[in-house]
Amino acid sequence: MGSKDPGKGKHKSKGTRRIVVPADLLAVMSPGEVTLGRRESHYVRHVLRMTVGDDVELMDGLGTSGHGHISALDDCGVRVELTEFGQASAMESPLKLTLIMGMPKGPRWDFIVQKTTELGIDRLLPAYTKHGEVRIPPEKTAARAHRWTRIATEAARQSGRSVAPEIDIPRPLEQLLELLSHEPDIDLKLMAWESLAGKPNRKLGEALLATGARPSHVILLVGPEGGFAPEEAALAAEHGFTAVSLGPRILRAETAAMAMTTLLQHILGDMG
Ligand code: SAM
Repeated sequence: MGSKDPGKGKHKSKGTRRIVVPADLLAVMSPGEVTLGRRESHYVRHVLRMTVGDDVELMDGLGTSGHGHISALDDCGVRVELTEFGQASAMESPLKLTLIMGMPKGPRWDFIVQKTTELGIDRLLPAYTKHGEVRIPPEKTAARAHRWTRIATEAARQSGRSVAPEIDIPRPLEQLLELLSHEPDIDLKLMAWESLAGKPNRKLGEALLATGARPSHVILLVGPEGGFAPEEAALAAEHGFTAVSLGPRILRAETAAMAMTTLLQHILGDMG
């Protein structure tokens, strides 16, 4: 049982629904009809309960999106008549932001993935640190990273981004600092260091002023619930990180990650 577009069906505007689809569905980028896969068709028909004529935006999560309307729904799947295509730029901040995060326990990490995606983060690098209690068995890390990418892709879809942030498997902090030291285009590295809480001389604004030119690629480093060990702060400083205070109050790890991301997007990105 299904329904087909009676020709030039009136396109109902219930607001445009965004659906993440495999990249190959948008590879051609030319107007015409595409058929959604089984999973996406089920989502459109039975979860979103969309009907023929509804406006829809298909996103590949890598920066390409296709706009159109549903032209048919039946047991062979959902077909979409695509009329125009777009690239990610409009919804992406001019500031390229990477967050290295001391791996917090349980649902907090899922929350950080979701919220920093909405805030426009480009890359999330979970780190094993001395005081961090989380260690994921190596044989499970790929599946966990895949799950985090699903959370990020859904958050990107919901916030209108057609690009989901890159999320790596967890690595020891030392290894991450070493790997990043070989990346050529990083303008600024900032570490939220709670030992500076309230110390007025290490405000974020001053660290940004000290860089002179306007940074466009920034790495943020935030600790886990147990904070950083002094030797980790020293190692970060050796790798070019500037330690900054986020004010006098001690923030939870997830709060600090949100605050840092928001402040940078406000000062250097596209938030206000
Ligand atoms: N040492 C903290 C304590 O006494 O509870 C534990 C770490 S805090 C819960 C988690 C992380 O948030 C810290 O490692 C740091 O990166 C960041 N953070 C929290 N409050 C901060 C502040 N006022 N200034 C700078 N960073 C802060």
